[in-house]
Amino acid sequence: MGRDQWRAALRNPVGAAAAGLLVLLAVLAVVAPILWGDAAEETDPAALSQGSTSEHPLGTDALGRDIMLRVLVATRYSLGLALLATAICVVAGVLLGVLPAVLGRRAGRLVTGTVNLAVAFPGLLLALFFAVIFGVGARGAVLAIGLAGAPSFARLVQTNVAAVSGRDFVAAARLAGVGRFRLVARHLLPNIGEPLVVNATVMAGSALLAFAGLSFLGLGVQPPAYDWGRLLGEGLDRIYINPAAALAPGVAVVVAGLAFTLLGESIAQVVGVRAVRRRRPPVGDQAAAAAAAGSAPETPGDTVLVADDLRVGFPAPRGGWTYPVDGVGLTVRPGETVGIVGESGSGKSLTALAVAQLAPDTADVTAARLEVAGVEPRGRPESEVRELLGTKVAMVFQDPMTSFNPSMRVGTQLAEVTRVHEGQGRRAALARAVDRLRTVRVPAPERRAHQYPHEFSGGMRQRAMVAMGLMSTPELIIADEPTTALDVTVQRQVLRLLKDVQAETGAAVVLISHDIAVVAQLCERVVVMYAGRVVEELPVGQLGAAAHPYTRALLASVPDLATDRERPLATIPGRPPDPADRPEGCAFAPRCAFADDACRVRPGLAAVAPEQRAACWHPRSQPLDLVLDVLSGGRS
Ligand code: SF4
Repeated sequence: MGRDQWRAALRNPVGAAAAGLLVLLAVLAVVAPILWGDAAEETDPAALSQGSTSEHPLGTDALGRDIMLRVLVATRYSLGLALLATAICVVAGVLLGVLPAVLGRRAGRLVTGTVNLAVAFPGLLLALFFAVIFGVGARGAVLAIGLAGAPSFARLVQTNVAAVSGRDFVAAARLAGVGRFRLVARHLLPNIGEPLVVNATVMAGSALLAFAGLSFLGLGVQPPAYDWGRLLGEGLDRIYINPAAALAPGVAVVVAGLAFTLLGESIAQVVGVRAVRRRRPPVGDQAAAAAAAGSAPETPGDTVLVADDLRVGFPAPRGGWTYPVDGVGLTVRPGETVGIVGESGSGKSLTALAVAQLAPDTADVTAARLEVAGVEPRGRPESEVRELLGTKVAMVFQDPMTSFNPSMRVGTQLAEVTRVHEGQGRRAALARAVDRLRTVRVPAPERRAHQYPHEFSGGMRQRAMVAMGLMSTPELIIADEPTTALDVTVQRQVLRLLKDVQAETGAAVVLISHDIAVVAQLCERVVVMYAGRVVEELPVGQLGAAAHPYTRALLASVPDLATDRERPLATIPGRPPDPADRPEGCAFAPRCAFADDACRVRPGLAAVAPEQRAACWHPRSQPLDLVLDVLSGGRS
């Protein structure tokens, strides 16, 4: 939490009152035992079990000790034990919460299942169970309350870690080869700190109440020590003689518990806290679909990426599997620029994630063949895969804002790549980061390297993302909609930068975009995807002779100088099919003007011209002159 957020929480009247109360309690905890510790122990045989008097405003206990002083002195013990229990809860909860991210899938699932089971168990029963195990007394009660609260805290950590794990900067760190422990410590935990702070504050209030409960039941603090819970228990025995003896410690417990809880709630309002397993599909499923799938063209020998019959499946809500990527074939040669184009949901980004081994944990990725930089990543030890992907593959994500860890300086994030893979020292790695920032034309790179991502403009963040990819010597740069979030001028700058970087490094580039005009500006070859399949692939220069009706429809929707601004832009009627409900034959048939009975059978990719293949029973042959004009005008 930043200073501004703390200020905002304290400006709230409830937050300010809660914070004021906690400060008062903290002062009492420090000074009360010093000022009144001895007086609270003094017995007065002449004033046993008295009610309120001028000398003893809240009366005395059975030994004639002043109840008001004892309540004040008990503040230190009560708060201290509650905070200790909270600390145990937080540490145990964080450890349990991050374990699934550190352990392998099976062990992680076991931990998650155990935590879920413990959360389902009533907290008080869990505390009593641990109290019996650890023994009667303050130490046992602290451990019992701390460990009883750990499962719900672990669940919170797991939920937040899962949410942050899906962010681009975590994918970038994984791709950079950052190990699991480092990933958790540097990228995940710092970004879930706020909800944890809020919950720990609320937890302190609950711990205080739980402690009072255990002491009241005789399982907590034992004589001669005393806390509010024990004073409450003693006072209740004489509630009809002196009600204040029970009320005073009771009020102290409630007020302190409320102060913690309300402060937590106030902070939560300011920071806006909002409070799978991997299965393999049946083999039959895979085989049936694979039979109809297109495959990669013949490999000419030297390739930087080969994916043959790549399939990415997810468990369907109603059972079975759905395949958003369904038999994709893709080959990229060294130094080549290939564009993958298609509407949202066509499977183009998921294809890239699967190739980079970044598909979600719930996904099942299969392929007849998958090679990245000449190496088959599947079945290799994780460290080898990290090394391969961290040094040979660079990924530029769509949203430059989420591509960086917001809690780390840009230079440190870039330097992490070489520190992890080459064991470079901090200074040397940072020098290289500055050099790479200069390469991608980030002004004043020395100063910028020490800034946080939010201090960069959108275009500059995207350039810094490219710089991160250049920290090693990538053979393949995958740019997933790298210009979507940018304005047209910055778009052009980033595309030109990718081109320059490619010319300098000789890396192959796979550019993923929904905009065929953007792809035409940068790429040599275009792969068109629809409903998780490749429907056409052809050189950019032949786009005017596109054969598949879907490719032609995409091209027709590109506006040119002759486009009538008064009329709505051309669009493709209908929507792409849900992967779970894909038509039997050609998936484009419901939107295709040329569909007939033949299209009820799924068409495979077939050559329609040199270097051009289309998956269509009725490929078109008329040239698209107008579109060619648009595209050639767009090329820089
Ligand atoms: S196979 Fe039939 S439905 Fe599919 S794109 Fe070709 S003509 Fe249209």
